[in-house]
Amino acid sequence: MKRDLFLLLVSTLFILMLVYFYEQKEQFLNKKLQLNENTYIEYPYFHRKEIDQYIYQYLNSYLGEDNRSLFIDYDYNYLEDEKLVRLLFYIYEENDVIVKESVKEFVLDLEKDKVVKVFMVKPTIKMYDNFYQRLIQMNKPMIALTFDDGPNYNTNKVLDILEKYQVKATFFLLGCNIVHHEDIIQRMSNLNMEIGNHMYSHKLLTKLKNEEIKKEIKIVDDAVFSIIGRYPTLIRPSYGTYNKRIQNVLDRPIIIWNIDTLDWKYHSSKNIYKRVMKDVSDGDIILMHDIYRATANGLDLIIPKLLDEGYQFVTVSELLYYKDIEIKQGRVYSDAKK
Ligand code: ZN
Repeated sequence: MKRDLFLLLVSTLFILMLVYFYEQKEQFLNKKLQLNENTYIEYPYFHRKEIDQYIYQYLNSYLGEDNRSLFIDYDYNYLEDEKLVRLLFYIYEENDVIVKESVKEFVLDLEKDKVVKVFMVKPTIKMYDNFYQRLIQMNKPMIALTFDDGPNYNTNKVLDILEKYQVKATFFLLGCNIVHHEDIIQRMSNLNMEIGNHMYSHKLLTKLKNEEIKKEIKIVDDAVFSIIGRYPTLIRPSYGTYNKRIQNVLDRPIIIWNIDTLDWKYHSSKNIYKRVMKDVSDGDIILMHDIYRATANGLDLIIPKLLDEGYQFVTVSELLYYKDIEIKQGRVYSDAKK
């Protein structure tokens, strides 16, 4: 009986050792490299001097570059002949708007201790929205819908339509409409809409002193912050009016538009639809007002039609980012065309 138990123990140990050595052969060490205070990256350690040094230097090239938050992951597999290893590094670079994803491929010859091939896998960069992780296709047209003067009760109708088609837009809030509509602003934020500042009282800025303009902005900033914990990212001056003085006072990018739907004038969904379809093209910033029902109804015609034609609906900040347009304080943007 004792002997049987001994045999069982020995054979179990033997199997465990076999499994252990088999695993050892297949797997390489996982090492950690500290990029900065918060970022570590893991990488495989092959016990091949030149290869390991090469990978270490490659990853070190990401050191010392601030202003980007990095996540690097990897995957490696033997190629068919078992002598070569294909190693893929997946690199995610984040800013506060989007995530860029790129892939770098290495082919390693373990016998010769050499990196035999290095290239970026195509497509080199994918861009995902931070929140929905939706894929933005750079070869397809994109536009930004913008809504001014809200919120009011109708804003929920506009949000319903945007939610129905899963598209994003930018809302330039009018400060005097914020009180009693905090829940709508919270909903905008939950749906990942971009929120901009349309000043407090819709006065003509050319008639206001610098200090008065600053006050108009600050009231809206503070109100928005108290609801969603973030400040508006962009400014749209009332009536889209600006001059050199106003540009110096406004501390964010100034967003106007290149297509005006005139929804405030005609209150006709068909008219709004026609105006957009007549002129729409890649890089447009479209002006609408979320406070009218005709605008919501017009959207229900415009969005499916443009989605059908391959358009992507992005926020203004996304549009400028994807179109590689530098975003600057006090600069005026009416579209994202070069
Ligand atoms: Zn307005």
